[in-house]
Amino acid sequence: MAEPLSADVVIIGSGMGGSTLAYGLAQRGIDVLVLERGHHLPKEPQNTSPEAVFVERRYKPKDTWYADDGTPFAPGVHYIVGGNTKVYGSSLPRLRERDFEETVYPNGVSPKWPFSYADLEPYYCQVEALYNVHGTPGPDDSVTPPFEPWRSQPYPYRALAHEPYVAETLDRLSAQGLHPSTTAMGVDLRPGGRCIRCGTCDGFPCRWDAKSDAEVCALEPALATGRVRLVTGAYVDRLETDSSGRIARAVGTLEGEPLEVRGRVFASSGGAANSAALLLRSGVANSTGLIGTRYMVHNNTHIAAIDPRRPNDVVFQKTACVNDFYDDMGDGYPGGTLQLIGKVQASMMKTHATKAPLSVLKPMAARSMEWLVMTEDTPDPRNRIYLDSAGRLTVSWTRTNYDRHELMLAKARSVLKKAGYVAIFEQRFDISMNSHMCGTAVAGEDPRASVLDPWCRSHDVDNLYVVDSAFFPSSGAQNPALTIAANALRVAEVIPA
Ligand SMILES: Cc1cc2nc3c(=O)[nH]c(=O)nc-3n(C[C@H](O)[C@H](O)[C@H](O)COP(=O)(O)OP(=O)(O)OC[C@H]3O[C@@H](n4cnc5c(N)ncnc54)[C@H](O)[C@@H]3O)c2cc1C
Repeated sequence: MAEPLSADVVIIGSGMGGSTLAYGLAQRGIDVLVLERGHHLPKEPQNTSPEAVFVERRYKPKDTWYADDGTPFAPGVHYIVGGNTKVYGSSLPRLRERDFEETVYPNGVSPKWPFSYADLEPYYCQVEALYNVHGTPGPDDSVTPPFEPWRSQPYPYRALAHEPYVAETLDRLSAQGLHPSTTAMGVDLRPGGRCIRCGTCDGFPCRWDAKSDAEVCALEPALATGRVRLVTGAYVDRLETDSSGRIARAVGTLEGEPLEVRGRVFASSGGAANSAALLLRSGVANSTGLIGTRYMVHNNTHIAAIDPRRPNDVVFQKTACVNDFYDDMGDGYPGGTLQLIGKVQASMMKTHATKAPLSVLKPMAARSMEWLVMTEDTPDPRNRIYLDSAGRLTVSWTRTNYDRHELMLAKARSVLKKAGYVAIFEQRFDISMNSHMCGTAVAGEDPRASVLDPWCRSHDVDNLYVVDSAFFPSSGAQNPALTIAANALRVAEVIPA
């Protein structure tokens, strides 16, 4: 048995939610213990090897989840200090004002959040500073990029410059009347910053600590206060209650040995699926039976657009997005975002185009530009995380609101073809590509219709919080991490000292 541990606030998981929460609590002088099942990601040459990262899946855990029919799959998760942010693409946009309100689609409803964009806006400003977000479009800081929500402070840092190939493509899109803008990016390109604008950012760990991940930007400064402790290799299996129904301890294993941790307050920050699984294993906070339900992942498709006449010599490609269709695709209903992703190399293409020889993929990759088409999926009680009879994490998932995605894909194809891309290849995300997962313990005012209150505290158990992407009542159609972090700082202000 490992030595019993205790803290005022015990946080389970050191990803975007957990680390940012720890940072916020440390600012208030609260004693925090972060329990992380994984370890520190090693800094090594393989960090920048597409073969090691994408083919050998070196940093992926040996974890298996199951589809409803029992089919096993390797989920899009990373059990390491910093969680998924150690490999994420650092695109850190805000949700839009409309995302916090109800949106009725032809085939689904995106529900209202229990707080508004205006409520979260001050915290967006704080986390943009914490995560070194670059986004100010030009010399006039007061100009908000097109199709972005209002902001009370300018972006902390100037937007990333587009490389010539990207700039030329954006001109072609602008000539069609579109308004491409710079992607809000969390990389350390501050004056004297550590980012070298290499080609291995999106999907790779950063050897230079120049990516604004949760470990570098939130956890390390939190640990430096001396008020936060981190224990790695600590897997929390269950939360156990005392006779009053409050959480008394977390139990699990520390490097394989039994572990018990006592605390005054517990925050589950294991990510949407693992937080749901933890609460289900524990049999707590589930008087509504809603834990695990309303699982969302975004409707995402990767596009490789090929212009055989223009070799793409870009190194850092992820600098631009097109949000013209976000609020209205021309039919009165929202669409989504079209966002450049990191330059995809031939060996990365091979992980999906398994039958195509590298001799074909190499010239393709040299002439392609890769985008992500992202639209909103709607919460459906049937889409859920549950434990099967053997206690295995199981995902029931059917695409929702997908007609909007098809329309947005058609728009993307159309504008890219007009911009000179004669061939477009698509890779639609499947059940295993759940990196934007959210929902599963949604926040709301009504204790009969939500798991958490508006401050992410369990309606049932007053010393239990869930502070990761699980609280999202709807997914919006922008990358989730900045919103997870902003909400974590918001919750950090109200956890009782
Ligand atoms: C390749 C990739 C690219 C991405 N790109 C972007 C992007 O550009 N922009 C963006 O906004 N988002 C991006 N995302 C998504 C983003 O990383 C996630 O939305 C975000 O990290 C989720 O934060 P979280 O706190 O919910 O969970 P995570 O960051 O996943 O953290 C959960 C942590 O909890 C730990 N944990 C889980 N269960 C337990 C347990 N029982 N006991 C102890 N520890 C536990 C895990 O090991 C992990 O460290 C990307 C993700 C991936 C994989």
